[in-house]
Amino acid sequence: MSLPNATKEDVKDAKHLATDTTKASGNPESNQPSVLPSTPDVNAVEDLADLLDGPFKERKEALRELINDPFLLPRVEGTLDEIRADNLEKVKIVAENGRIQESFSPLNGGQGQVSAGVSSLELLAQVNNSTCIKSGVQFGLWGGAIDALGTERHIEFAKGAMDLSKLGCFAMTEMGHGSNVQQLETTATYDPETQEFVINSPTPGSKKAYIGNAARDGRWAAVFAQLYTPDSDESKGVHCIIVRIREEDGTDAPGVTTSDHGHKGGLLGVDNGMITFDHVRVPRENLLNRFADVAEDGTYSSSIDSMNRRFFTMLGTLVRGRLGVGASAAGATRAGLALAVKYANIRRQFEAGDPGQEERLIDYRQHRRRLLIPLAKSYALAMFQNNLLERFQEYTDAVNAGEWDPANPTEQQSFASRETETLAAFFKSATATHANETLQECREACGGAGYMSENLLTTFRADVDIFTTFEGDDTILRQLVGKNLLTAYGKEMSEMSPFGMAKYVVSNIGDFLTRRSGIAASVQSISDRVAGTGSLFDAETQLRVVQSREEHVLNSLVRRVQVARKMDRKDAAKVINRAQDHLLETAIAYGDRMLVQSMIDAEDRLPENSPARQVFEQLRHLFALETIVKNADWYQEHGVLPAGRVKAAKAAVNDLVDSLAPWSEVLVDAFKIPQVVLDRPMMVNGGTDLS
Ligand SMILES: Cc1cc2nc3c(=O)[nH]c(=O)nc-3n(C[C@H](O)[C@H](O)[C@H](O)COP(=O)(O)OP(=O)(O)OC[C@H]3O[C@@H](n4cnc5c(N)ncnc54)[C@H](O)[C@@H]3O)c2cc1C
Repeated sequence: MSLPNATKEDVKDAKHLATDTTKASGNPESNQPSVLPSTPDVNAVEDLADLLDGPFKERKEALRELINDPFLLPRVEGTLDEIRADNLEKVKIVAENGRIQESFSPLNGGQGQVSAGVSSLELLAQVNNSTCIKSGVQFGLWGGAIDALGTERHIEFAKGAMDLSKLGCFAMTEMGHGSNVQQLETTATYDPETQEFVINSPTPGSKKAYIGNAARDGRWAAVFAQLYTPDSDESKGVHCIIVRIREEDGTDAPGVTTSDHGHKGGLLGVDNGMITFDHVRVPRENLLNRFADVAEDGTYSSSIDSMNRRFFTMLGTLVRGRLGVGASAAGATRAGLALAVKYANIRRQFEAGDPGQEERLIDYRQHRRRLLIPLAKSYALAMFQNNLLERFQEYTDAVNAGEWDPANPTEQQSFASRETETLAAFFKSATATHANETLQECREACGGAGYMSENLLTTFRADVDIFTTFEGDDTILRQLVGKNLLTAYGKEMSEMSPFGMAKYVVSNIGDFLTRRSGIAASVQSISDRVAGTGSLFDAETQLRVVQSREEHVLNSLVRRVQVARKMDRKDAAKVINRAQDHLLETAIAYGDRMLVQSMIDAEDRLPENSPARQVFEQLRHLFALETIVKNADWYQEHGVLPAGRVKAAKAAVNDLVDSLAPWSEVLVDAFKIPQVVLDRPMMVNGGTDLS
């Protein structure tokens, strides 16, 4: 196979893009946007807000009233126990409002509305991430596990999770295993004599660790354990069982030992702890039996034959948790950006042009760059999030209507599930990383004021730190994205002759990726809609440039790992390991393209003649061009864009932040961050009154 040539071909195609463009228009960068009016049109706020809220506007508007409550702001002083107790009261307010519970399935009295959970968490994260995450643990993880993996016989537990009468934990991670949960060591052994499961922690590594609600408030836990039945010494794989961990008075249940992780790097209102089990007996019915069950006599049955597929089907139903964490990260980031942008519009330092009048921070180029570039990315992630949630809602509706059986999906459904899992993994990792980078930048952009707890940025920053790790470590999730792309691609290739495969790699990786774009308009439909001149200011060109990188990186990954197909396990693992950086790069390039695509797609949803159109278009330019600039070396090394065009993109990024700067408050006002969050001491008297 002439696969190395494939790369050359691919690059030649990409070069074509660059050279053709230059020829076509004389000036390759035609269609440059004009500078926005220096006086912003505040009428743009509502249209931008509608675009951000997307199909979930009504729900978010209702929640905004609830969260604009000073009581919900994070408590940062007091003992750990006081902070945790206070946070539990806040979660009760969330529960009383009743909307987050609408995310549960109709079986359990909910409405099967994915956004009820995800949007609630996103908005709570704009005010208080401890409350957001404790709510996420209670409703999304503990409640979510029962809802997704349980059946009629667990309705009582689901209802208890919903009304807080049963506070619970999601006990998956152990000291020994966090990312690799297939190797968990906790055991659940069925005893037919008593018709009970015996839950045990046989090794030090099997101690459940970092578990939310485990240190103080949890009375119950959804425990993930290796399941054993009398017929065999071999595990039937990881299953989930409801176990009482504490009595109602707070003492440990018989055989259970809970302990407290104590102080940690953030999320002080969440009580994370450890749990060990010493032959704890629970009724047979406590096994969450949607996908597998154990009969009274100990006979094991499952609607999914393959142990591996059973495990991944169970995990797949928990994708909702990743959407929740991703949306929370996005929410916290928007709150931080709103604070920093508003501060930049009132804070003055150094006289520049006008004697006697210092300039506002937002007047400085670097300040514009540090805030507006991440702001544009936040918009891109929001557009992507709406598409992803809509897609997940369709899946949920189909499952609830009995049209989609996760245990026995059609081939098409199976493919779609895998794709949703890939999109969710990208979304969670991208938003968590973005939150950490951006909140640090926001803190610094507010100088010393940004470091004062009363201005909230340090709390937000500390709280989102761990978002990169829980609900799937970001690096592991990027590997999952890369592997899923590779597997899907490999599957298509494996159905071809060697000649077909070689040809396929050369010409069709682009088609493959485009067909798997899943949630936004296809590249082709965008090409059909937008008249392209080849300028870097054309939506089509921006998309084609980022897609050329995605294609190339995946192509290069395929070439690196395909030799592994004929190797034994050990050697194959070495090959895969050596390609790990390419795997991660593939995931990032895939995500970049999805985000550019989502931005382009969203533009058409703004009303004709809306003052928001021009400003949103410039945000898209900023995001797309910065994505290209970020990979400038790659584009030049691979001959996709000549140095001159990369330089033009860099200059354009600066022009765009200058153009957008007067509109910066409009852009963050559209986030609709609750006023209680924005009313910070640093906002008083031009940032000079820190009394
Ligand atoms: C505050 C907090 C709350 C939590 N809440 C819960 C909860 O309620 N319930 C629950 O079950 N769990 C919870 N967790 C656990 C969390 O999900 C795990 O910490 C997470 O999955 C990572 O697992 P680990 O800590 O074992 O890290 P490891 O898996 O040991 O990973 C450590 C590092 O190694 C890297 N790494 C691992 N494998 C590879 C590889 N193959 N290639 C390259 N790099 C690799 C990872 O990227 C990571 O940076 C919580 C954790 C924290 C800190």
